[in-house]
Amino acid sequence: MKKLTFEALKALINTPKRVAIIPHINPDGDAIGSSLGLSNYLVQKKHIVRVISPNNYPDFLKWIPGTDKIINFDTHPKEASEFLNKIDIIFTLDFNSLNRCGEIKHIIENTTAIKIMIDHHEQPEEYADYIYSDTKMGSTCEMIYHFIERLGDGKMINKEIGTALYTGIMTDTASFRFPKTSPTTHRVVATLIENGVNHSKIHNNIYDNNSVEKLKLIGIALNNLRLIDSNASFITLSQSELDQCAYKKGDTEGLVNYGLSIKDIKLTAIFIENKEEEIIKISLRSKGNIDVNQIAKKYFNGGGHKNASGGKSYDSIDKTVNLFKSIVASYKNLLNE
Ligand code: 5GP
Ligand code: MN
Repeated sequence: MKKLTFEALKALINTPKRVAIIPHINPDGDAIGSSLGLSNYLVQKKHIVRVISPNNYPDFLKWIPGTDKIINFDTHPKEASEFLNKIDIIFTLDFNSLNRCGEIKHIIENTTAIKIMIDHHEQPEEYADYIYSDTKMGSTCEMIYHFIERLGDGKMINKEIGTALYTGIMTDTASFRFPKTSPTTHRVVATLIENGVNHSKIHNNIYDNNSVEKLKLIGIALNNLRLIDSNASFITLSQSELDQCAYKKGDTEGLVNYGLSIKDIKLTAIFIENKEEEIIKISLRSKGNIDVNQIAKKYFNGGGHKNASGGKSYDSIDKTVNLFKSIVASYKNLLNE
């Protein structure tokens, strides 16, 4: 594949085109925020743009400017495919493996459109004509900020773009907590706030919008929290426990972090049963040298980052937990360091 230079990409973006923007499946704040931020910028540049999400995303993101125009491929495949059949450029945001965008994978594999990947996960695949990959970045939203600046259009980052980008930077860094949060990250959000972003309101929209059922689910999850020795932990949630709390997409987001908040814990996981998809959805988190990207890739059909990854299992919750316990045993030396 012939790769594009940045100059060629810049020339491409400087004349109006038809552009699709694709976040990963089960999009989170970073995937939706980066897609909407980039979309707003490209619309200002006179492109015809659609954000096409592989499937639905949590309600707590549905206030971000532009969410009303997102096409859900899962529920509107015809509308999405019609647009995707007539595009010049396709951006894939916050993922680097075509397996992460559901059915849209087949369209990306066969399109003649120029493919641009912007992403911060480990080990990018080579499917794109232009790859902006930086695993040192805490979020794809921060990368969109740098991307627009590098194109010479920093002044176009208005309040709407800033709001979308701030949301993803905040959620992917767990409110500026994870180690990849850098002085530059803080400079970027400082600029966004100077441009009119209301950081307090964004925090409120994301984190203080809970239903009582969601809090009850957190209660059940905490009750199910178990330790393995003194430095690993895990949580399970069965489908019936989710049903009991009228589970909605997004209700379990962030729960995995409780397992890592215990003193001395360096590795944790959450196992969430999904009867409809017949899988156990797994999130893994770690501190220091425990590489959960490797664990997710090797054992759980997934991937992600060194200290935050995800995947799935086709076994029962009990079997999956047993596998996790054996993995923990094999990491004993690293865990005891
Ligand atoms: P989460 O646990 O919050 O779902 O995901 C943590 C990180 O792992 C995110 O960066 C996400 O993109 C990545 N991730 C989650 N699930 C999967 C998966 O099934 N496959 C891959 N490759 N990455 C995943
Ligand atoms: Mn991300």
